[in-house]
Amino acid sequence: MIVRIWGTRGSYPVARADVLRYGGNTTCVEVRAGERCIILDAGTGLRQLSDSLALESTPPTAIDLLITHTHWDHIIGFPFFAPIYRPDCRLEIYGLLRTQSSLRATIANALSDPLMPVSMEDLRAELHFHEIHEGLCFELGPVRVSTARANHPYRALAYRLETDDAALVFIPDTGPFHTVLFGDERIDWTGEPTANSHDDLRELAEMRQRIVELARDADWMLYDSQFTDAQYARFPHWGHSTASQAREIAEDAGVKELLLFHHDPHRADAELDRIVAEQRALARPGLAIQAAYEGMALTRRDDQ
Ligand SMILES: [Zn+2]
Ligand SMILES: [Zn+2]
Repeated sequence: MIVRIWGTRGSYPVARADVLRYGGNTTCVEVRAGERCIILDAGTGLRQLSDSLALESTPPTAIDLLITHTHWDHIIGFPFFAPIYRPDCRLEIYGLLRTQSSLRATIANALSDPLMPVSMEDLRAELHFHEIHEGLCFELGPVRVSTARANHPYRALAYRLETDDAALVFIPDTGPFHTVLFGDERIDWTGEPTANSHDDLRELAEMRQRIVELARDADWMLYDSQFTDAQYARFPHWGHSTASQAREIAEDAGVKELLLFHHDPHRADAELDRIVAEQRALARPGLAIQAAYEGMALTRRDDQ
């Protein structure tokens, strides 16, 4: 398995001198295994991946796109992904089954006037949409894909991709599992968490356990670390985690390397360096920690 990271930022893309090292594009990760080309999320990093694919001697014509959820930062690169305009390409697009709107309708809506000057009719690739539910496991060639529910407003998916040689876990957006339970309703935030019912607490605990199982012994886990503790205290209803919360999940799951991910758009490179140093000082022996950066390639230690 070869993993390349094309977008690390959460919420919206940024372009400033103080974010150049970790990158300003929103979430997008490329996974290659054998002939298979799998893309996790379609944030603005997808545009750079698009350029990279075009430079290959034989660019892939069959692509699997796994979407965690359709918040703008995770799909905004889609209209700018060149393979969708190529008649010889086929895209299999996976996303969460929702009752409010279909995956296809959401993408089609983003790709239509007055938001975009193109529409689904302008696309030349063959597109297949697959609405999946949390907990589903399936295979994409040599890659075994498992899913779990992340704790995020209107729900999101967490993915594990595993081959015979490595396992990658991708959880760009999730809140922790002790304060707010996110479902399909808007959280009306009053400044104080409402007391969770016994059932809510049990559901949160079960969701956390399934996330830990999804991440069990993974080589790499990309995990939502958007917030500082102070930000979390102010915005627990936004559905994002802190670096400490990410580390605790990694430790419980026996992950080999935690990659802090979905960086806050305000987070400067120097601040991220500090957060990484703090978490390394707290980490259990055996857990490596880095902040994911644009252009990063992941290779197993024993392959180096
Ligand atoms: Zn996001
Ligand atoms: Zn989101």
